[in-house]
Amino acid sequence: MDGNSGMSEVTESDALRTLHRVFGYDAFRGEQEAIIDHVVAGGDAVVLMPTGGGKSLCYQIPALVRPGTGIVVSPLIALMQDQVDALRALGVRAGFINSTQDFDERRVMEAEFLAGELDVLYLAPERLRLDATLDLLSRGKISVFAIDEAHCVAQWGHDFRPDYLTLSVLGQRWPDVPRIALTATATHATHREITERLGMPDAKHFVASFDRPNIQYRIVPKAEPKKQLLAFLKEEHAGDAGIVYCLSRNSVEKTAEFLCRNGIEAVPYHAGLDGGTRAAHQSRFLREEGLVVCATIAFGMGIDKPDVRFVAHLDLPKSVEGYYQETGRAGRDGLPSTAWMAYGLQDVVQQRKMIQGSEGDEAFRRRAASHLDSMLALCETAQCRRAQLLTYFGQEATAQSCGNCDTCLTPPETWDGTVAAQKVLSAVVRLQRERGQKFGAGQIIDILLGKKTAKVIQFDHDQLSVFGIGEELAEAEWRGVIRQLLAQGLLAVEGEYGTLVLTETSGSVLGREREVRLRKEPKRVPAARAARGERKAKSAAAVADLPQEAVPLFEALRAWRGAQAKEQGVPAYVIFHDATLREIAALRPTSVADLAGISGVGEKKRATYGEGVVGVVAEFAGGGAPEGGAAGDSAAGPAAAARAAEPQLSDDVEPDWGDEMEPDWTS
Ligand code: ADP
Ligand code: ZN
Repeated sequence: MDGNSGMSEVTESDALRTLHRVFGYDAFRGEQEAIIDHVVAGGDAVVLMPTGGGKSLCYQIPALVRPGTGIVVSPLIALMQDQVDALRALGVRAGFINSTQDFDERRVMEAEFLAGELDVLYLAPERLRLDATLDLLSRGKISVFAIDEAHCVAQWGHDFRPDYLTLSVLGQRWPDVPRIALTATATHATHREITERLGMPDAKHFVASFDRPNIQYRIVPKAEPKKQLLAFLKEEHAGDAGIVYCLSRNSVEKTAEFLCRNGIEAVPYHAGLDGGTRAAHQSRFLREEGLVVCATIAFGMGIDKPDVRFVAHLDLPKSVEGYYQETGRAGRDGLPSTAWMAYGLQDVVQQRKMIQGSEGDEAFRRRAASHLDSMLALCETAQCRRAQLLTYFGQEATAQSCGNCDTCLTPPETWDGTVAAQKVLSAVVRLQRERGQKFGAGQIIDILLGKKTAKVIQFDHDQLSVFGIGEELAEAEWRGVIRQLLAQGLLAVEGEYGTLVLTETSGSVLGREREVRLRKEPKRVPAARAARGERKAKSAAAVADLPQEAVPLFEALRAWRGAQAKEQGVPAYVIFHDATLREIAALRPTSVADLAGISGVGEKKRATYGEGVVGVVAEFAGGGAPEGGAAGDSAAGPAAAARAAEPQLSDDVEPDWGDEMEPDWTS
């Protein structure tokens, strides 16, 4: 590829040549080129780029271009093997040193490093506390230090790792080696902390746009969450890999069981499972196609699986940062993906209660409450969700309406909810003033609706003047009203039972001094496939936009890839990404040389897999007979690939209200 005869090649930089030859990509994306040029020239850099933005190349290419070994500090010990495998598949000489290795394995790595035989060496941060490690590093040649997941140095972030604090030593001990710190966390506070604590005052800062245009954001009213999730998965993501986040371990377990019972392969992941089970489930998620992981927030950081097609939240995340990080794990490959959340009254009550009951001090509670308020504002907005997310991170949205979030696709109506709000607040006031009682949302709604339930009779609540004054709205609508009042801070919850109480601002509503605008509950949230065109396939989202005639070949290529991955014990995406297989399926290359221009096929992969790929394509051109084809026995037939079991809906679907919640704080 890099012949030296053409005039244009002479001006091609080492970095660009490496991009073509090793990674098989045509061009740099966004600020990659500026970042790489700066680091190759020896400068320090702090890089804020969203997940999927292409951070890895920003240190991998300098590591390849500059003399010596690039040292990558990463907290993701469980993923190092996969990261190294992925680089080796590209022909990069990569290795790692961490606590999962025995003495001999470590010694081999150390020897390779000292002999200058490694391009990239991954290190766990805790190793850099050891003098032995620092001595080892000073005996070899280092091209660049990359500090991945750099937000782990931020003390107030939820991913804080004390070992990151020792990393400032790198700059003191190796002043001539450039350092690059990278994170997908976008807040200004974290950005500042990274720069200060890593001791990088002279670094150049690169802040990319945090927009993820291929992710469709949707937040639906929660009614029967598991059933809603199931419908979402079956209608839009049949056969796709994805993550379902729940707040408690208990609901993680139940959701995974429920999905399995209904024909969707799912595994649980939370801090209460033993390390072996967790590692096995994570490894299955990375290696198998179309597996769903139900998880607490303990799962996900650094998961570089490119084809996660959806991230679903069954419970409200605690902050917009958390929501953005978690949803960001979808669609690293740039293909259409969905961030879907079911959100309801109970979430607000739950989170407010958790904050009040937390052991943190007043400042902690205030911070948690303000994080929650921002999250609620995102849920309740009638404006573009993407624009609101970007504004939260201090970035401008490119358009008022993105066309790829639920509020843009079906703009919600708002209505004057002042009277409804007054009715709710009056019921709360009457109970308190006339009876000295406090109740939760359920009882308030029964009173407003004039329902003579056992509990209403027991407390004589049918004698209250507010009894039956709210018959104009249905129960679900009253839930929506109360939820929005809580979100707007016009109502509060208190105590263990989440009883409703007034706030300082409630009076202005009761006194008719302010109007309350509410969002109308959408009847049915339209599925994304309306925007994408209806199509059912094994991997629904991955084949979206692919010409219909290319779909069977794409599925055959995936089957071939699956067999290769299994044989080598690596995740399928280490062989080729979906995007590469899509391009192959569309272009139908007839020779190994034809593969050169396809994105994601570098020199090494062309040599290793070229014949296999061309064989699968040839077999299709020849009528698609799976047996005896040029691809040999590694190709599973297209029929096998397209076979998709139609999952059955079981009826034991219950709403989640009764779920005891036990939030996963340990993660
Ligand atoms: P991040 O670490 O920022 O989340 P990655 O480095 O994993 O992102 O890159 C995300 C995806 O984009 C990967 O699949 C990667 O191979 C691909 N990618 C990165 N840079 C380029 C590029 N210049 N051209 C094509 N694909 C790219
Ligand atoms: Zn939008």
